[in-house]
Amino acid sequence: MRESWQERFAETPDVLLDARRQRTIVPVLGFAVGGDEFVTMAGPCSVETESQIMATAKHVRRMGARVLRGGAFKPRSSPYAFQGLGLEGLKLLAAAREQTGLAIVTEVMSECDVPLVAEYADILQIGSRSMENYTLLEAAARSGRPILLKRGMMATIADFLRSAQVILDNGNPNLILCERGIRTFETAMRNTFDAAGIALLKQIAHLPVIADPSHAAGHHDLVPALARIGIAAGADGLLVEVHPNPDKAWSDGEQSLDFAEFDAMMAALEPWIALRGMTLHEEMLGQRELAGLRTLEAVG
Ligand code: PEP
Ligand code: MN
Repeated sequence: MRESWQERFAETPDVLLDARRQRTIVPVLGFAVGGDEFVTMAGPCSVETESQIMATAKHVRRMGARVLRGGAFKPRSSPYAFQGLGLEGLKLLAAAREQTGLAIVTEVMSECDVPLVAEYADILQIGSRSMENYTLLEAAARSGRPILLKRGMMATIADFLRSAQVILDNGNPNLILCERGIRTFETAMRNTFDAAGIALLKQIAHLPVIADPSHAAGHHDLVPALARIGIAAGADGLLVEVHPNPDKAWSDGEQSLDFAEFDAMMAALEPWIALRGMTLHEEMLGQRELAGLRTLEAVG
């Protein structure tokens, strides 16, 4: 007898798709993740300055983003690297929401910070390094805010589903999963983008899945290709790093797209999104067509 996925992942029953359970659609500010609309979340790795976050917010909004990303509390690989602006960063994100109408996703690293971050953010991001911090997962779930749970860089799909189950168990159904690449023996890329993981999650779980090509690629050149692969694998949206001047970024500049690269990527992704039968944020379609034309001119 061949084992079913349901049997294989029986430990996390509430996460699994079955005949009785509808797909989860997560409502955010006037739109939803996991429905018919392809949702783009874009912005810098870290919130740095008012002009940086405002310029980025306005730009990504014009190109169809629904959500502004930006870290105020940053989990850095080096303890000596920039650790984020903290509360000041949250305030800048809220000001950008005020000006653009974009929803805000930002990381919360500690259960002590959950009430503060939940006051400013529309979606709480649990970072790769925190995926198995169950105290944080419980506190974040209980805040009632939608959660974007990033896959741990060394987490199996079963580990990922266990963390998802903890959030559901704590009474929060508004959970979005995010594939951001895992560690393998390959070192050319920062991480190995697990496209099969996205396909599997969409097949076995009822939760929306977002692809983060930036932290998988580690290099801006590869981001559009991984975004395309994520869409083909079934992702409901993208989380992508965009910076006005990546060379000067305070974190993750290597993998951040500049505005022109972001425009070209979004224009190029449009037919792939259409192939999935998904819609795009309507008022943005005209902008994308313009960017598409500009890209064609640049190539031609
Ligand atoms: C980020 O989104 O900037 C980030 C730190 O991501 P991850 O937790 O996937 O490394
Ligand atoms: Mn980053």
